[in-house]
Amino acid sequence: MSEVKTYPIINNPQYKPHIDEDTYHRMYQQSVQDPDKFWSRMAHQFVDWFEPWEETSNVDYNKAEISWFKGGKLNASYNCIDRHLKDKADQTAIIWEGDEPDQQRYISFQELHDEVCRFANALKSRGVKKGDRVCIYMPMIPEVGYAMLACARIGAIHSVVFGGFSPEALKSRILDSDCQVVVTADAGVRGGKQVPLKANADEALKGCPDVHTVMVVKSQNNDIEWHTERDVDYNVLKQDMQPECAPEVMDAEDPLFILYTSGSTGKPKGVMHTTGGYILYTAMTHKYIFDYHDGDIYWCTADAGWITGHSYIFYGPLANGATTLMFEGVPNYPNASRFWDIVDKHKVSLFYTAPTAIRALMAGGDEAVTKTSRQSLRVLGTVGEPINPEAWEWYFNVVGEKRCPIVDTWWQTETGGILISPLPGATKLKPGSATRPFFGIQPALLDTDANELDGVASGSLVMKHSWPGQMRSVWGDHQRFYDTYFSQFPGYYFSGDGAQRDGDGFYWITGRMDDVLNVSGHRMGTAEIESALVLHESVAEAAVVGYPHDIKGQGIYVYVNLMKGKQGSDELKAELIAHVAKEIGPIAKPDKLQFADDLPKTRSGKIMRRILRKIAEDDIENIGDTSTLAEPAVVEKLIREKL
Ligand code: ATP
Ligand code: MG
Repeated sequence: MSEVKTYPIINNPQYKPHIDEDTYHRMYQQSVQDPDKFWSRMAHQFVDWFEPWEETSNVDYNKAEISWFKGGKLNASYNCIDRHLKDKADQTAIIWEGDEPDQQRYISFQELHDEVCRFANALKSRGVKKGDRVCIYMPMIPEVGYAMLACARIGAIHSVVFGGFSPEALKSRILDSDCQVVVTADAGVRGGKQVPLKANADEALKGCPDVHTVMVVKSQNNDIEWHTERDVDYNVLKQDMQPECAPEVMDAEDPLFILYTSGSTGKPKGVMHTTGGYILYTAMTHKYIFDYHDGDIYWCTADAGWITGHSYIFYGPLANGATTLMFEGVPNYPNASRFWDIVDKHKVSLFYTAPTAIRALMAGGDEAVTKTSRQSLRVLGTVGEPINPEAWEWYFNVVGEKRCPIVDTWWQTETGGILISPLPGATKLKPGSATRPFFGIQPALLDTDANELDGVASGSLVMKHSWPGQMRSVWGDHQRFYDTYFSQFPGYYFSGDGAQRDGDGFYWITGRMDDVLNVSGHRMGTAEIESALVLHESVAEAAVVGYPHDIKGQGIYVYVNLMKGKQGSDELKAELIAHVAKEIGPIAKPDKLQFADDLPKTRSGKIMRRILRKIAEDDIENIGDTSTLAEPAVVEKLIREKL
């Protein structure tokens, strides 16, 4: 590893963190010495149960069977809403900020209760019952949250599909989980542009004969096609719905939702989460990792269509009775100060976003940030990809003015909540490291023969023990669940990611195992080479893949996206190659370097290295599933311009 900086624990003198360093170690020890005892205590503390559970956990990784709090009865929407009404009926539960800066709504817990109940009754009026799957294809308007919580209230299983997905992608997800009801809107708006959701849904539904109801929230009052036998105008139906709906009594192990992974590595998987363990795990991680206190204004910029939106816009924060902000728009509309203007407008104290957004804003220059106040900010978070130390430093120094700890949170759709992350009042910080495991999480690094590696090491990142938020199955395909996560290293949950552990026991995620390079016998993470490249003043973003090389086994192929105004040239190419060799060592010297105006990304903004690998390998025919690609044209251009 190149030289590493360390920042001491940053303590805000205005409050006492929930967890300090000693508490972290003490609670962590308890959580791994007697996990059932620990989780059972937490489950009483964080969740309201209608009836206690019979068995705290029952886990067999060899059969991919996992259960937590079986026999316990609860309802997720009750935990997110009803139990807060006694003290917090008038407190804002959701702040909605629209695409235009003059649009906002404040929804109190009482209003949230009434809206969710009306939505639940509306679903019931169309025959939806416990166990049915409901597809939610919505823009970021409050109704997406109402619809999710309404499903939870009546025991229906929601499957939220990101509003940026195409009709084809929507269709395959509806069919895979056999949804018969779809909730959508006439259109969404992002950055001033309309997204025709209803028209997309109409197109998708041509191939879904079993869908009998499309509940349409008219939010833009657009002219849309109408199928009277199938389409329901939600705002009209709502008028007749009562604002009361008793929460269904659910078992802890009843499914809460299905969510398809982003598709960075292949065909998306229908990840299934259940009720009790998920609510506990999201509430607890939200409280401790963001150091949430009553009165905080919390903002996660993710879309509801990703797991981050599920766990850290809705379920976790609302279970804690927090005020959670949701944003319909994009970071650079109407200008590059938008995020920070929203922070100032609503006095956001806890802020959570993705490296792709940070890198994009960083490329836009400091001024858009520094002209805003940001004094309300206390904790900054990141998730989704390894964050390059360069981007981390910018986030820390420019956005947070060295005052706000950064929680670099590593987790997956599959894990339900964050597994590895600093805690703001308990962990020193190293730019680029997700640092230490959360309570109850027991990571290990394995070599290719499944041996556990001790101390400073590098290998496949696995978990030795289950945690309550873990997924329970791949919808309709339990064998795929076993094959994907438990077959390669029997007895462990395999994340698919690689990591390094340093002398402090801190974890550094190096990227997906498929992306790890083996150059002349040296194993190298793509993240490290990419981080070295973005250190260079001309580079905005970089992606590294391997390709077959006669002598080295694998050669290093680099795609570089330059800062605005910079031109690619042979001199710059030579300079960048020399720069990597200087930063990491001659072994990491790129063999090929291609300038690219844009990199292929998933709709959640992650670089799709598997596609870049196919281009580098000249294996265009086998490029694989591209349905989750944000802009297919990017790929064609890269192929045309290939070296
Ligand atoms: P698919 O599983 O369909 O290929 P995906 O893995 O991108 O898609 P997600 O569950 O959204 O789907 O993403 C989880 C992955 O994102 C992790 O396995 C990891 O590779 C990456 N990741 C998330 N957070 C971090 C982080 N803080 N540091 C490094 N990598 C991260
Ligand atoms: Mg994945």
